[in-house]
Amino acid sequence: MTEETGLQAVELAFREAARLGYRTVKFKYAGGEPTLNFSTVIRIAGAAQVLSRETGISLEGVVLSNGFSLPDRMIPWLVQTNTQLMISLDGLGMYQDVQRQRPGGKPTFRYVLRTLDRLDRFGLKPRISITVSRHNLPGLPDVLRFVLERGYPFHLNFFRENPFAQDAASMSIPPEDLIIGMLAGYQVVEQCLPEQPLLGALLDRVRLDIPHNRPCGAAQSYMIVQPGGSVTLCQMSDERVGDLQMRNPMDAIRRRRDGLLNPMVYDRGRCGQCFWQYACAGGCPLLTFRTYGRYDHPSPYCSVYQALIPEVLRLEGKRLLRNEVRSGR
Ligand code: SF4
Repeated sequence: MTEETGLQAVELAFREAARLGYRTVKFKYAGGEPTLNFSTVIRIAGAAQVLSRETGISLEGVVLSNGFSLPDRMIPWLVQTNTQLMISLDGLGMYQDVQRQRPGGKPTFRYVLRTLDRLDRFGLKPRISITVSRHNLPGLPDVLRFVLERGYPFHLNFFRENPFAQDAASMSIPPEDLIIGMLAGYQVVEQCLPEQPLLGALLDRVRLDIPHNRPCGAAQSYMIVQPGGSVTLCQMSDERVGDLQMRNPMDAIRRRRDGLLNPMVYDRGRCGQCFWQYACAGGCPLLTFRTYGRYDHPSPYCSVYQALIPEVLRLEGKRLLRNEVRSGR
C-alpha cells in the first residue's frame, strides 16, 4: 500500500465514523506483512492520531504480524503510540513450521521465538493469536503452556477455509476431533490459570464477556482497504464493494442484499432459540455459507461451541476463585 492510499483510507474511516456517530475507530495494520512496509504504517497511524484529536473520536491500533522479523525502531514506536502488536504463533517447533512457512517452505518457529525474546527484553507483551487446524491441534497444549508461562495475552481461532489459504482441505478438523483437542488444551489452561479473563480468549468467535447479536462487524461496521485502494468486506473474502473514492461506503456495505451477508443471530435458524446465542451469535457467516450454501443456519462448529462454552465458563470461574484466594478475600 502506498502512503497516499493509506492516508485516503484513514480520512475515509474518520469521515464515515463521524457521519454515523461512532465513538471509536480501530485500525488493523495487516497484510501480507505490515512490518515489511513499516514506514507507511508509521505515517498512516500518525495521520489517524491527528484526526482522532481533531474529531474527538477515540483511536485504537493493532499491527498483525507473523513475527518473523520486526524492525528495531518498531518496538519503541509500539510503546509510545500505545499500538497493540498481535503475533501469530500456532505451535512450538514443527507445529508452527508446518502451518506457517517462509517462501520456499522454510521453517518459521525460531524466527518468531527470536522476536518474542527481543520483545521480552523491552517488557513488551504482544497478543498471541493461535489458529487451530488439523496440522497443529496435537501441539495445542504445548503452545498454550508456553504462552501462559510467559504471560502473553492470547486468543484461539479455528482455521476457516478461504480463497487465500493453501492446502485448505487438509487443515479442516472434524468437530469431534476438535473438541477432544481443545479439551486437551484447556487442561493446560486449568493448570496455569492466567491473569487475563478467559471469556473471550478460549473459543473461536465466542465472547462470553460482551453480549452480541452478530459474530463480527463484517457487512456492518467493518471494511478492508486493499493495497490498491479497493474496499472489500472481510479479509476472508475478495468481494469488492467499491474503492476509496466512494462517498458513503458504509451505506453501500450495509445495504447490499447479496454476496456476503451477516444476519443477526435471530435470523440464523435454530440459533434464535439457542441458550448461548448472545455469546456465540452463530459463528462466522462466511464459513456457514461456504459449508451449507445459506446464511440462515448455525455454524458448522455449532457442536464444538455447545460442548466447549460450558468449559470456558468453568475455567473462568476457577480463575476468579483463584484470584479471590490470592487477594485473601
Ligand atoms: S451454539 Fe450453535 S445454535 Fe447456538 S448460537 Fe452458536 S451456532 Fe447457533
